[in-house]
Amino acid sequence: MIVVMSPMATKGDVHAVRRTIEGHGLQAFVSSGQERTVIGVVGSDVDRVANIGSLPGVEQVIRVTNPYKLASVEHHPERTRVTVGGVPIGLGDELVVVAGPCSVESAEMLRDTARWVGHEGARLLRGGAYKPRTSPYTFQGLGEPALEMLAAARAETGLPVISEVTDAADVELFDRHVDVLQVGSRNMHNFVLLRAVGQSSHPVLLKRGFGATIEEWLMAAEYILSSGNSNVILCERGIRTFETATRNTLDLSAVPVLRGKTHLPIMVDPSHGTGQRDLVGPMALAGAAVGADGLLIEVHPDPPSAMSDGEQSLSFAEFGALMDELRRMQLLRERPAPAARPADVPPAPIGDLRGRIDEVDATLASLVQQRAALALEVERARGGIGHGHDVRRERELLERAAHEGSGPLSADEMTQIFGAVLRASRAVQRREAEAALLHRQPA
Ligand code: PEP
Ligand code: MN
Repeated sequence: MIVVMSPMATKGDVHAVRRTIEGHGLQAFVSSGQERTVIGVVGSDVDRVANIGSLPGVEQVIRVTNPYKLASVEHHPERTRVTVGGVPIGLGDELVVVAGPCSVESAEMLRDTARWVGHEGARLLRGGAYKPRTSPYTFQGLGEPALEMLAAARAETGLPVISEVTDAADVELFDRHVDVLQVGSRNMHNFVLLRAVGQSSHPVLLKRGFGATIEEWLMAAEYILSSGNSNVILCERGIRTFETATRNTLDLSAVPVLRGKTHLPIMVDPSHGTGQRDLVGPMALAGAAVGADGLLIEVHPDPPSAMSDGEQSLSFAEFGALMDELRRMQLLRERPAPAARPADVPPAPIGDLRGRIDEVDATLASLVQQRAALALEVERARGGIGHGHDVRRERELLERAAHEGSGPLSADEMTQIFGAVLRASRAVQRREAEAALLHRQPA
C-alpha cells in the first residue's frame, strides 16, 4: 500500500501517519520528494490501516496488491481442478458441459432432460429447486421434492447434479442431495450464505453478481475459500449494463481477465448471459473459444411451456446441435471410447449401410466438384468483370433444391446444403475473376 501525502501536509502529519502504521505492527518507508511525501506500507495485513486516508494531510491511498489472497494466482500459481463425482473441472482438461432445466418442474421432465443431455455429452445435470427470480410473483421452485428428484435423476443417469442454494439454513439439506452447491447472482454478496457454503463438504459454483466487478466477485470467492472450502468454481453469467437488447451483457473478457488473476476454474452461462435462445449457441461457442473450463446451459423438453426462463432454454434438438457444433470446432473433445468389446463391433447390417454411405459420399464429392467446374466455365465464358452474378437465378435454384428429391431432410436443411454449395461455386468464380483482372494465374 502506498500513502500519498498532500503537498500541504506538515511534518507532523507525516509523523502521525508513520506512527499509525507502525502502531499496527506494519513497516513505514517514508520517501520525501520536492513537492510531496509518499509512504510505503509493508506487512502481511496492510488492510489494518485501510482507514488511513482519513488522517490529516493524506491525499490518496493506493493498494498495490490484491485484496484477495487464497483465490489469487500469486498465492497458488497452479490452476485448481475441482472434481465433481469423478468429473474433473479446470486445468484445461476438457470442456465440461452442465445442462438441464432452469427449474425442476416434475420428476418426469427432469428424467427425460437428464437422459437427453447425458446422451448428448453433458457431464453434469443442473436444475433449480429454489428459484430466486427477477420478480417474486413468478414460480419459485418446488423446493425439497425437487432436490429428491435431482438425486433420483443422478441415480438413474450417473450425472452428478448441481442446484442453487438460497438460504444458509438449507446447506445441510443440499449436502444430502446434490453434488455442487450453486450460489446465484442475486446472492453473491450474501456473506452469511457464502460462509455457510464455505463449510460445506461439496464444491461451490459461484455465479458473478450481475452488478459485481471482477474484484468483488473474487472477494466473494475468497470468503468461501477462507471459510474452509477450497473447491470453488466461478461462473460468468452476464452483468447489467445500459444495453437492453439482451437480458444481460455476457462479459466474456472476464474469462481471460480471471485467468490472469485466479487459479480457480471458470465457467460461462450463456443462457442467463443473453436471455435469448438464438444467442445461446453462438455465445456458448465463444465462451468455449475464450477458454472457459465449462458451460452452463438451460435445456427444456418444451421451452415454450417452461415455468421459468423458457425464452432462453434450448430444446433437446437445439442442445444436440450445439454439442455437435462444439465438437466440430474441436472445443469439445470426445471422451476416449472404452476399449472395444465384442458387443461394440457394429452388427453386420450397420457395416453394410456404412459402406453404402461411403459410396454416396464419394459420388457427392465428385458431383460437387463437377458443379464447381461448370460454374468456372460460366465465369470464363462471361469474361471480364462487372457482369455480377445472377442473384435471381440463385434464389430460384435454392427454392427448387429445397423441394427437390424426397427424403428425411427438411426444406430448411436442403436450403442450407445448397446454400453452401452455391457459396463455394461463387468463391471459385470470384478467384477466376480476380485473377483475370490482375492478369495472373488463378490461385
Ligand atoms: C440459475 O442458474 O438458475 C440462475 C438463477 O442463475 P443466476 O443466478 O445467474 O441468475
Ligand atoms: Mn434460469
